[in-house]
Amino acid sequence: MAKMQALNCRECGKEYPTEALHVCELCFGPLEVKYNYTEIKQAISRASIEAGPRSLWRYSALLPIEGTPTVGIHAGFTPLVRANNLGAFLGLDELYIKNDCVNHPTLSFKDRVVAVALTRARELGYETAACASTGNLANSVAAHAAQAGMQCYVFIPGDLETAKVLGNLIYRPKVIEVEGTYDDVNRLCSEIAAERRWAFVNVNIRPYYAEGSKTLAFETVEQLGWQAPDHVVVPMASGSLLTKIWKGLNELHTVGLIGPVSTKVNGAQAEGCSPIATAFKQGRDFFKPVKPNTIAKSLAIGNPADGYYALKTAMESGGQMETVTDEEIVEGIKLLAQTEGIFTETAGGVTIGVLQKLVKQGIIKKEDVTVAYITGNGLKTQEAVVDSVGRPIRIPPSLVKFEQMFG
Ligand SMILES: *Cc1c(COP(=O)(O)O)cnc(C)c1O
Repeated sequence: MAKMQALNCRECGKEYPTEALHVCELCFGPLEVKYNYTEIKQAISRASIEAGPRSLWRYSALLPIEGTPTVGIHAGFTPLVRANNLGAFLGLDELYIKNDCVNHPTLSFKDRVVAVALTRARELGYETAACASTGNLANSVAAHAAQAGMQCYVFIPGDLETAKVLGNLIYRPKVIEVEGTYDDVNRLCSEIAAERRWAFVNVNIRPYYAEGSKTLAFETVEQLGWQAPDHVVVPMASGSLLTKIWKGLNELHTVGLIGPVSTKVNGAQAEGCSPIATAFKQGRDFFKPVKPNTIAKSLAIGNPADGYYALKTAMESGGQMETVTDEEIVEGIKLLAQTEGIFTETAGGVTIGVLQKLVKQGIIKKEDVTVAYITGNGLKTQEAVVDSVGRPIRIPPSLVKFEQMFG
């Protein structure tokens, strides 16, 4: 029997074949990949994983592909950095940064989900890759499609950062800039997906795409010496990543690689687009869609597809959610750069700002093993910090002048 058993509806449980399907035809619930864990448990061990490739594909046994990976061979297995300086600043003894700023090839967490989604899309016979994106996803789909020789259409909102737009155009996909927010882009893409036989990685391929996020949990546990952390802090856009980190941690327990999981999964959003975190703080298990207004554009989803499940995950795990202002995002970016030498994009500023709040509130304690997920690279969102980092000190090429200034 295959390790991937079916897609099943997260609401009513109805099963579907493992094809390019994403919503339940009975109750419109989202579909999720269902595995045969008994079989997987027999096939993997810590040693077999450790002997695998230095990429997310070392966890192939728990990923939704049938054959060998064909797209995104080098994605994942990014550094887990022990952040002693930032930890000392915040008063934490064991803080780690999971650094997806250096993911391959497009410097964000999205290289994980795209590697899995497009490998699966090719298994299903697709020749065209597409996505609705807040920025990083489009970059990753465009790069992977170029390498895989696939046709490519990426759809982005009209207000993206220069580097994120350029980071599509360079690969020569069709870049469609939609006049509106991400939520408008996403709605349009759902309509197009119904018309064309394209692999929209986060629409009709979404059940497979989402599984790629689990690898951030798998790697963290392995890199901590096969131990699940006490706390994780996760940035949220659609909320998918947060739910899959929880799924990934629990899968490792299910297949016998670690003990029961007691990790608290904390969610982070920007105040200017915080439908999930606001609902959580108000004790609601449903969110109200919002119109985004924040510099954290990669997280600017006003109507998050997995918002409801993210709320459930935080509650179930005993985690919290918090928000930060745009000023706090910039402070968070600078703090991480100046303590750990890691230049993250705005989403990482959200994570660091929220981490800081959770420590101040006493939710994350000094001795807790804590992992902050840094999901994107600061060189892609230079607009956010360009006016607040000062200017170089300009001098003529003269030793005398230099000594005058620095003597
Ligand atoms: C896409 C993205 C996330 C998380 O997105 P979800 O939709 O919640 O899975 C986090 N950080 C960055 C930088 C992203 O691009």
